[in-house]
This record gives sequence, C-alpha cells and structure tokens, in this order.
Amino acid sequence: MIKVGVNGYGTIGKRVADAVALQDDMKLVGIAKMGMDYKTRIAASKGIPVFSAGDAKGFGGSGVSLAGTLEDMVKQCDIVVDCTPEGVGAQNKSLYEKAGCRAIFQGGEPHSLTSLSFNAYSNYASAIGAKFARVVSCNTTGLARTILPLQKDLGIASVRAFIVRRAADPSETRSGPINAIEPEREVPSHHGEDVRTVIPDLDIETAAAKVPTTLMHMHYVTVRFAEEGSDRDAVLEAWGRRNRIIMFSGKEGVTSTAQVMDYARDLGRPRGDLYEIAVWDDMKVEEMELSYFQAVHQEADVVPENIDAIRAMCGVETDADKSIAKTDKSLGIRAKKED
Ligand code: NAD
Repeated sequence: MIKVGVNGYGTIGKRVADAVALQDDMKLVGIAKMGMDYKTRIAASKGIPVFSAGDAKGFGGSGVSLAGTLEDMVKQCDIVVDCTPEGVGAQNKSLYEKAGCRAIFQGGEPHSLTSLSFNAYSNYASAIGAKFARVVSCNTTGLARTILPLQKDLGIASVRAFIVRRAADPSETRSGPINAIEPEREVPSHHGEDVRTVIPDLDIETAAAKVPTTLMHMHYVTVRFAEEGSDRDAVLEAWGRRNRIIMFSGKEGVTSTAQVMDYARDLGRPRGDLYEIAVWDDMKVEEMELSYFQAVHQEADVVPENIDAIRAMCGVETDADKSIAKTDKSLGIRAKKED
C-alpha cells in the first residue's frame, strides 16, 4: 500500500484525498491544513486524520483533535500530494526533500520546480520512480487530453486555441470579474508553453480571457493536421480510444456548460464532478483543419492525473494504460471501447 498524505485541503486537495481513499493500492495517511474551516470539519467527521500545517492555534476551540504536525504527516508518507495555493507548494519542497518523501505539486507551481510536468497519457513512463513531479493545470490537462490522441494517431502540424476561463471556483467569492470580460494581455498566453511541458515540440499558440462563470472553462481549438486524409470519423476514433474524453451533442440539448454540469450531477458522482473533458461533436473537419469546442471541469479533471502520478512515481505500476484503467474504474470513468 502506498502511504499518501495531502497537504492543503481546498478545491483540489479534498477531491484528491477522496480519490486516494478509493484506491485499493493506496492508504490516505491524512490531510494537512493551516487552520480550521468547514472543509476540515467534514474531513474530520469522515475520520480522516488532520495534521496542522502551521501553528496548532489555528485549530484552537474547534474540537478537532490533531494527529500531529505537517512534519509528522510527511514522516509517515511515501508521497505527499501538495494541493496548497499557487506558490506555497514551492516553499514546501525543501520540507519534503529533507524528509526523503516524494511529492506531487499542482499546476499553480512552475514547471521549473520539478522539471517534470505530468499528464498520464502523455508521459506516464517518465514519472516512474521520480521524486518530484507537477500535475499540469486544469486547462493544460484539458488541452493535452484531446490534442495528444490527434498527434499520436493522425499527426499534427499546429494547434491554435482560445481559452475562455471561469472567473472563480463555485465556492470562491473573492475572485472576478463579475460583470466584465477580461482578456489575458500576455499574448500568446502561457497555456501553450505549458502544454509543451507534456507534449514537447508541439506547435501550439493560445490566448485566453476570463468570463463571469464558475462552472467550467471552455476551449475553442483549431488543429491543422500534418497530412491530408483525417476526417471526422478518424478524429472520433482517436478520441474514442482514450478514456477521459466524453462527447456531447447539441442535438441532445447539451448547448452550454450548464447542461454539461447538469449531466455530471445526474451521473451521481461525488460533488457532481466531471473528470473527463467534454467535447462537442458539433465540430468541423475541412481541408486538413479540425475545429472543436471543449469544456473543462476545472475542479475535477486533474484528480485522476494525480492518482496516476502517485502510482508512477512510487513505481507500483509501470504500465500507463493499466494505471489509467484502475484509476478510472475507481472513479466511475467509462472504459475504452475495446475494454
Ligand atoms: P484552494 O485555495 O481551494 O485550496 C488550497 C488549500 O490549501 C486550502 O485548504 C487552504 O486553506 C490551504 N492552505 C493555504 N496555505 C497553506 C499552507 N501554507 N499549508 C497547507 N495548506 C495551506 O486552492 P485550489 O484551487 O485547490 O488550488 C490548489 C492548487 O491546484 C494550485 O496550485 C492551483 O493552481 C491548482 N489547481 C487549481 C484548480 C482549480 O480550478 N481550483 C485546477 C487545477 C489545478
């Protein structure tokens, strides 16, 4: 059993912790938090050991009995999944290093922190045995999931993508905009470069804007194929060979992220999470060019990637497809057609 700790228990941390607890080859040692909040109360009520990442005073009067400090948790772990806010993970690295504990960081940290960015379909093998890795961000994960199959199976000359970013997660009230569309003035946006950390040498350029929504990100992607001959069926086949992509059709009433998330809630998964990337089949393939829309449930798509990264780094499974299948079965993600 791989002993796993989760440092930071917010949007991503609470989901990763629950997913770890579902794996038959992993044991959740506990979670670390700076202080008490409603999320920690739920964790404690589920019997998850809570460790203090800072001064234990943050838990004073809460009635939650602490299992120890962050350092105590790290000592008991084979690997820690650091889900602290952007920039905090980098500060924690030396603590993990000193304890000889493996660690996974999230997309808010720079690639340079670990020099190994991870996406299960892209580069599982390169993470086998690694001490540190970073699971790429929700947007990068979304782009990599649909681009990689096209690159591997059909061949890509270039990709251009426009990213419509959600302003905040549903539980956040401090981010915005709430009544504006905010272009990312860095052109091209950093997302393309981040995709190249998991799909090297890809000719990709991205731009982005933030809009007042909390449900999902939306991408408009244009792929130029390297050769003639790739039609709609070939595209659907390439995507159909991989898990973690789910097709939707406007004809069935899925015309926005609202219906995608309604569908996800109807699936009955915890928190109504959609781990897969939602792709509309209302796409265009013409003259070597494919254009499509996809939506990313930013709170959830990186969760299975974290689970696969744990398995790869701890060396318990060297076959990417086997790890992906195991993770996906545990989370209720559909299996590949041929399985
Ligand atoms: P969050 O703010 O929801 O959660 C962070 C958690 O860490 C909170 O529980 C907070 O109390 C805790 N925390 C703060 N400082 C801490 C410290 N010093 N030690 C321990 N815990 C601390 O953040 P999030 O959205 O879950 O993001 C976490 C990471 O995941 C970031 O790198 C982010 O960029 C990345 N990410 C976020 C999303 C998303 O859409 N929310 C998607 C993919 C990746």
